Amino acid sequence: MWSMNVPAATKLFVWRAVSDLLPTRKNLWKKKIVEDPLCPICNLNEETISHVMWSCPATVDVWGDTRSPISKWPSGDCNFEQKWLDLCRVMDQESMEKVAVIMRGIWYRRNKYVFENKFWRPGNVVQMAVTGLEDYYSVNEKKTGLNKGKGEDRGKSHWRCPVDVDFKVNFDGAFDQSSSKIGMGVVIRDKKGEVVAALSASRREGQNAFVAEGMALWRAMEFCLEIGMVDVEFDGDSKELIEAVMSDEEEDSRWGQIVEDIKQLRHQYSNWKVVFNYRESNEVAHNLAKMALLFDEELVWIEEVPSSIHQYIVKDNLCNDLQ
Ligand SMILES: [Zn+2]
Repeated sequence: MWSMNVPAATKLFVWRAVSDLLPTRKNLWKKKIVEDPLCPICNLNEETISHVMWSCPATVDVWGDTRSPISKWPSGDCNFEQKWLDLCRVMDQESMEKVAVIMRGIWYRRNKYVFENKFWRPGNVVQMAVTGLEDYYSVNEKKTGLNKGKGEDRGKSHWRCPVDVDFKVNFDGAFDQSSSKIGMGVVIRDKKGEVVAALSASRREGQNAFVAEGMALWRAMEFCLEIGMVDVEFDGDSKELIEAVMSDEEEDSRWGQIVEDIKQLRHQYSNWKVVFNYRESNEVAHNLAKMALLFDEELVWIEEVPSSIHQYIVKDNLCNDLQ
């Protein structure tokens, strides 16, 4: 019931109906709140939940409407909870969603009659319920459409082996405010996902997390030049930094000098691309950067990574293989 794609209030209503928690005449009578348990609409039978929702002649008319998903079901008294479970077993989810909103409409009409003495025709009940559900679907589709898009983006955000270039360089920066320390992590991998080199370094004169990201990218570029790798692509998870680096416009001041320095390096190699990827695809560099905060020296590994980082390499390669 809770997995239905209907408004939360409708789910709650169905739950209350199925659990016999609605204030039907019978329930109020049992609590001695009203004097007789008869159905206020037909005055023929006790108003139990199954009577309101199922067997009252007024309700039978609603379910008999051509737009109702259960117009051919036999009426007659029943255990309502059992009826609901039976319906769930034989009907698809969308039909059950219609059943749920129509049920709520039936109860709404009943209250309108009891409290305002207005009585809707059965067609109106179905019309209102079904239209309401369609509206809900279209609003919800837009919402989930967006969410889905995001989800898919992030799904694709697992680390991938380089395609257009020989090597992919992931970089990340970490910033520790208490010690004003910057950590930088860099990992270079080839088209098979194998580690060519990794670097973990720290700087004392840290200013903020933006600068930490920038320093990491700058160090990654320098590192590639030092070890003679030019056919590379840089991947990071700081959208702001990457937009600043890839744009031709003047930077705002929060970056300090670092974006200018990076642009100069980048322009020496006109094919150097800096690409944004979600954090999930950048775990190796992220953990190398965090690790750097623990040391004051610069550590470099060739064709391997420290054992604490190894698990992230394995994970990236698994995700890449699964794509
Ligand atoms: Zn009735």
